[in-house]
Amino acid sequence: MSLRPYIVGNWKMNGTRAMLSEARAIDRAAQRYMKVEVAVAPPFTLIHAVHREAEQIAVGAQDCHADPDGAHTGDISATMAADAGAKFVILGHSERRQDHGESNELVRSKAEAALEAGLKVILCCGEPEEKRDEGKAEEFVLTQLKLSLPDAMEDVVERLTIAYEPIWAIGTGRTPTLDDIAAMHGAIRAFLVERFGEEDGGQIRILYGGSVKPENAREILGVANVGGALVGGASLTADSFMNIALAA
Ligand code: PGA
Repeated sequence: MSLRPYIVGNWKMNGTRAMLSEARAIDRAAQRYMKVEVAVAPPFTLIHAVHREAEQIAVGAQDCHADPDGAHTGDISATMAADAGAKFVILGHSERRQDHGESNELVRSKAEAALEAGLKVILCCGEPEEKRDEGKAEEFVLTQLKLSLPDAMEDVVERLTIAYEPIWAIGTGRTPTLDDIAAMHGAIRAFLVERFGEEDGGQIRILYGGSVKPENAREILGVANVGGALVGGASLTADSFMNIALAA
């Protein structure tokens, strides 16, 4: 089995119902690019509406609570996201780790809850700039992965995607060199093979994220072990997002 390139839009805290026309346009274009798997993660308020518009693309959430229900004012469980139409959830994004103090252990609990609720998981990792400057980027990222991944996982190739997003590249217009991307994705691949075995670990998709744009998508997506992209800013218009999908 070889999975298609996976292009995922992370809308972050952007989007009102006016964005539904972009979702429709993304879905229509995705019907023409069947060699690529396209998905979007709108804010919770739009998951159901985008799900209803979408025939081709999968819709996902950007977070979920680690508990299935209960007294957590303002939070959303994985079951609720799935009920609204989400098929996957992005977990451990650096903005959640920073803004909400999410630890690796909490990310792992959330991943377990998401899998239990039937959602697929896109697990994010990525180093701050000082770790890269110290030559400790790989060590930092692999520790994040070790501690945030659930121990047991069925159908891991289908249900787990890793997203490598260097924090200093998110929303900044800066990207690592292609050699640096290749080195990090190679290190993550070796870790996945060790953790899940040659067969499964060799196939799990590893997305690159951080200032991916139509102009740089082709070269980044051509790097070894890059199985797709997690796209923030450039996923907010159908035109730029689908040009990235086209590059895949
Ligand atoms: P960016 O965000 O494409 O705007 O850099 C990527 C992300 O944070 O997922």
